Amino acid sequence: MTQAQYTPREMSFDLVIIGSGIAGLSAAVAAADKGASVVVIERSPEPDFGGNTRWTESYFRMKSETEVSDDFEERLVSNAGFHLDPNIIEAASAPYEQWPPYVKAHGMPDPEIVSTLANMAGPTVTWLKQYGIKFDFLPTYFLTAAAPRLMPVGGGLAMIEALRTYALKKGVTCLYETTARSFSRQGARSTVTTADSTGQELLLHGKAVVIASGGFQGNPEMLTQYLGQAAKFVRPVAKGGYYNKGEGIRMALAAGAAPAGDFGSYHAEPLDPRSGATEALVMNFTYGILVNKHGKRFLDEAPGLVDVHYDHISRAIGEQPDGICYVIFDQSIYDVPNWKKSIRTDQPVIQGNTLQELAQACGLPAAALSATVAAYNDSCPTGKFLPFELDGLATTNLEIPKSNWSRPINQGPFMAYPIIPGICFTYGGIKINKDSQVVDNDGRPMPGLYAAGEATGLYHQVYTGATSVMRGAVFGKIAGEHATA
Ligand SMILES: Cc1cc2nc3c(=O)[nH]c(=O)nc-3n(C[C@H](O)[C@H](O)[C@H](O)COP(=O)(O)OP(=O)(O)OC[C@H]3O[C@@H](n4cnc5c(N)ncnc54)[C@H](O)[C@@H]3O)c2cc1C
Repeated sequence: MTQAQYTPREMSFDLVIIGSGIAGLSAAVAAADKGASVVVIERSPEPDFGGNTRWTESYFRMKSETEVSDDFEERLVSNAGFHLDPNIIEAASAPYEQWPPYVKAHGMPDPEIVSTLANMAGPTVTWLKQYGIKFDFLPTYFLTAAAPRLMPVGGGLAMIEALRTYALKKGVTCLYETTARSFSRQGARSTVTTADSTGQELLLHGKAVVIASGGFQGNPEMLTQYLGQAAKFVRPVAKGGYYNKGEGIRMALAAGAAPAGDFGSYHAEPLDPRSGATEALVMNFTYGILVNKHGKRFLDEAPGLVDVHYDHISRAIGEQPDGICYVIFDQSIYDVPNWKKSIRTDQPVIQGNTLQELAQACGLPAAALSATVAAYNDSCPTGKFLPFELDGLATTNLEIPKSNWSRPINQGPFMAYPIIPGICFTYGGIKINKDSQVVDNDGRPMPGLYAAGEATGLYHQVYTGATSVMRGAVFGKIAGEHATA
């Protein structure tokens, strides 16, 4: 067939949604409820639909079904990025309409977005319950936690299945193995160019498009571009991450969207590299020590409660030689009731009757490990060990201190797990306003273009845990409603 004869297939809808995770399906259901014709395109085969959302427990940082945690806004704001310009902070405290364009387009955690997320979390949970999703406070894998975590019963999978079932009933078209490649806008019509399951081009036209295609954790080229050397040591914590390759972010930026969030960072989790299981976490390091492949400690393992610190500790592991470390602990771990709930790897703990044996089993230099443990043991205080609260058992006179739960490691057999930084999702994405409209580099909403979920940029520094699924639901719903209003 010659170029002149080639005519791609085309379909038209009111709304074209890229991605079928929580953000995309929330947008689809909200728009379908307003009577819009909707297509959801999804690159994965149907059994894998749902991206990252499919694999998550889906904790919501909420103290009840109607209220976010007490520290919600404070945490997001305190992780607003380094050395923020006071002029920006002052300008952003005025009503939004008065913000200068460069502030509307700034990549900071936008106070408009943070307050919309906090205010709409409760109503969005109520809205999700309409579709048969139940919420409860169920046990988590954190042994100590600063914030409460509400979760949908059945996790993210239960949510996307309920939303998809409803969407299909309302006539939403779901196309699987269909990948969005580019976006264009002519007049009042947006077009997403896709490759369908046969690799053929399919043009999808809509009055508006919602980009809900996740981050770029599944794209080694973008990871290297934005994270640099750290990229070679990370891998997605679950299968869904491999499908998120950043096309949505790229197509929006190419069309003039402003970037937001920290493109050079990501949400990290401590992962056992030997395991292929979903979220093979090793989360007991606050009770032991972490050593790198040279047998040396490199940070404070317990600056606070584990749910606050596992993110930046996991990222720091990626900066160690070969991007790996080992948690070293001993039989005193059994003083921590139910400690194994913090271990989600399916691989066995590595054991040694002596530290030398343990070092050999881990491939660590035995003399260095023994010296590290001896120095640590000598610096451990006496005092009451309180496994589930900050007990202030801090080391003394150690160059790298440990702030809590410091007890000598001297009761063999000794134990270890290897840990690498798993990538949950990337921080960098598209700037949106409180109506989920994509904002251009001059702070203006881009006609007919919306984004929600991981594809949008919000986070800097340390991830405020249990807020990513809820932002997908909140801004996905807003996008679906606003785009069809
Ligand atoms: C194991 C695990 C545990 C987690 N735990 C929590 C938690 O407890 N609480 C929390 O808040 N967050 C958690 N997260 C993060 C959270 O799950 C995600 O950030 C959130 O679900 C993202 O939703 P989303 O809809 O934006 O993206 P996704 O759910 O990733 O959906 C994006 C979809 O877009 C599709 N797609 C990508 N590119 C294209 C393209 N070009 N064309 C067509 N389709 C495309 C993908 O296949 C995918 O289905 C966890 C993540 C994981 C992996």
